[in-house]
Amino acid sequence: MEGEIVAGVDIGGTNSVVGLVDKSGTILLKERFSTLAHDPPQEFVPRLVAVITTLLARLPAGSRLGGIVLASPAANARQGIIDNPANFKWGRVDLIAMIRRMLDVPTALINDGDAAVLGEMRFGVASGLSNVLLLTLGTGVGAGMVMDGKLIQGASGAGTEFGHVSIDPKGRDCGCGKRGCAETYVSASGVRRTVFELLSHRLEPTFLRDISFNDLTTEIISRLAVEGDPIAVEAFEQTGAYLGHILANAVAIFDPEAVVLSGGLVNAGDILMSPVRRSFEEHVLERYRGSVRLLTSTLNDGEAAILGAASIAWEMTIAASVRA
Ligand SMILES: [Zn+2]
Repeated sequence: MEGEIVAGVDIGGTNSVVGLVDKSGTILLKERFSTLAHDPPQEFVPRLVAVITTLLARLPAGSRLGGIVLASPAANARQGIIDNPANFKWGRVDLIAMIRRMLDVPTALINDGDAAVLGEMRFGVASGLSNVLLLTLGTGVGAGMVMDGKLIQGASGAGTEFGHVSIDPKGRDCGCGKRGCAETYVSASGVRRTVFELLSHRLEPTFLRDISFNDLTTEIISRLAVEGDPIAVEAFEQTGAYLGHILANAVAIFDPEAVVLSGGLVNAGDILMSPVRRSFEEHVLERYRGSVRLLTSTLNDGEAAILGAASIAWEMTIAASVRA
């Protein structure tokens, strides 16, 4: 329909982003807002709807919202439910029903990692590939996987939860209730925890000692690492070593053509990726060496999930118009 657009929403543990997207996959307008994931979802939904309607009002007259797809951690696309995301205090929640009570627009849900892998394959760095594992390294770790061109959502619909593969059963406490999960090491919060562990048993002078845990960001750590701060450099070395090891194991299970890394942590660039590549080469099985590409997303932060979610929303509106 003329003037029709869709909304792709990337719900993150810290921030959420709404993108209004046209049929060609162009993000016309985008807005980021705080998720406040420790507040109940009943407070999140009205804020989300307000952002969508405010953005919509900025489009030319006659623009019509054809569908909304939410990309969320712990989303079960088959059941339409978000089920206890690790860094949220939401429990098990039917966000679709809550949105539909406020907006009469077809709404669906997809796991954030699944949305991101679709976005990267349709509009990003994985375009043209058909066997791709994607990890989003943000507050937590999301994952999505396409094998032989098919999105793998699994028996329950929960899809892959790579962030909660435990790499140390006696390791760090995770928001999911288990210990040693990958995301407690190779996420934005994981790097901060690594910095504080290093500070507790090393004595070198570093600006990091003057920053509280809550004020510490991966941007600060990566900037200090680039400037040669020994603790910051070591924190990225350890994070990269873990991540390369994890990816080498993943490749032995899934045999992808490429692994795509996205999310805020990847903005650290070579400070992260150099140790990742070294560790990956060290641990990967010989037969995969040289054949698996380690790629970093070239889309802006959150846009892969928005574009993937929007592409699902377009499929939804096309299916609805065929039924009508
Ligand atoms: Zn966990």
